[in-house]
Amino acid sequence: MGAALTNVDLWKTSIQAGMPAPRLVYAGSTLDGGPADEAPHMFYLKTEQQARDAVRLNVAKGADHIKVYSWLPRPLFLAVMDEAQKYGLPVVGHLPVEVRASEAARLGFKSIEHLHGLFIATSSIENDIFKNADMSDLLGYSLAEIKASKSYDSGKANKLFRIFKEKGVWPVPTIVTYLNSAKTEIDPRSKYVPTVVQKQWAELIRAIPPEQTELMKAINSTTPGMVKKLNDAGVPMLAGTDSSFEMTNFIYGVSLHDELELLVKSGLTPLQALQTATLNPARYLEREQELGTVEKGKLADLVLLNKNPLEDIRNTTSISAVVLDGKLLEKQTLDQAVKTYPVIKVADMKDEPEGSGPSANKPIVHNH
Ligand SMILES: [Zn+2]
Repeated sequence: MGAALTNVDLWKTSIQAGMPAPRLVYAGSTLDGGPADEAPHMFYLKTEQQARDAVRLNVAKGADHIKVYSWLPRPLFLAVMDEAQKYGLPVVGHLPVEVRASEAARLGFKSIEHLHGLFIATSSIENDIFKNADMSDLLGYSLAEIKASKSYDSGKANKLFRIFKEKGVWPVPTIVTYLNSAKTEIDPRSKYVPTVVQKQWAELIRAIPPEQTELMKAINSTTPGMVKKLNDAGVPMLAGTDSSFEMTNFIYGVSLHDELELLVKSGLTPLQALQTATLNPARYLEREQELGTVEKGKLADLVLLNKNPLEDIRNTTSISAVVLDGKLLEKQTLDQAVKTYPVIKVADMKDEPEGSGPSANKPIVHNH
């Protein structure tokens, strides 16, 4: 869901050389408007021609889908939708703040990451928000969403959810993303994360203004309700984690198990939660013939568990073995492959002179 094209090339080369890895499905560089913050996995676009060229560059690099970001202006979004369609590629990602969810869905926008825009789209004051709210940055946008969550219009929501089902729009709640962003200490399970990354996280946590943590908590309290409404309306969802070392407490692997648990807490059955990470992605990718369920003739990618996840979704962590593309990796092999590191504490970080660290006093930008 957005990666520098050079990194994608590196991964592909390593996998071809035999490195054990998941199947790679990627968007290439993310398409955004300004202001540029120089993230290496983003294209910052100003004109429709640039937007079309960016789509073609990702296509040339073998992208499976095209990802857009929050600040892509509506005319450029429309150009991206048009250009991607020429190559048969879906457009996915952050619903741009200038675009209404209903319009994006009708045009075939395929995934809605973090459920962005859904509170606004299902609110009786949607028009007022589009006209008057300042959504030019993440803070303003989040405040608009929280405000909108207080004026939920079920008739409007049902219409929107019907379009989602008809057009095949996949909401990706990433509840764990919001939860991790609100943590004020390094997660103890960061023992799987290199110390240098943990130190960056600790610095970021120290730089988070308290009002940002409060905002994240407010979003945390509203997101599960939207997940339940989508699920009750029969809209299938995907498990997403936003795992990335750039953001605090995002631990690869661990985050996915957390997300499944959070989906169950939001009202999905354990089977529905499991399907957000198995069958639903296969359908989303239109690769149900080879992926998504355990059946004769499908590719052998399996996680074997000691305990039944349908009884308790947390049993997805009782891993006994993994089958990766037909190759059996037993528990002992997996354990030997995993490195661990000491977990640091935010309070133990030394004070540095103002402005000296790489991220000192830098506001945190959600970039995924
Ligand atoms: Zn994101």
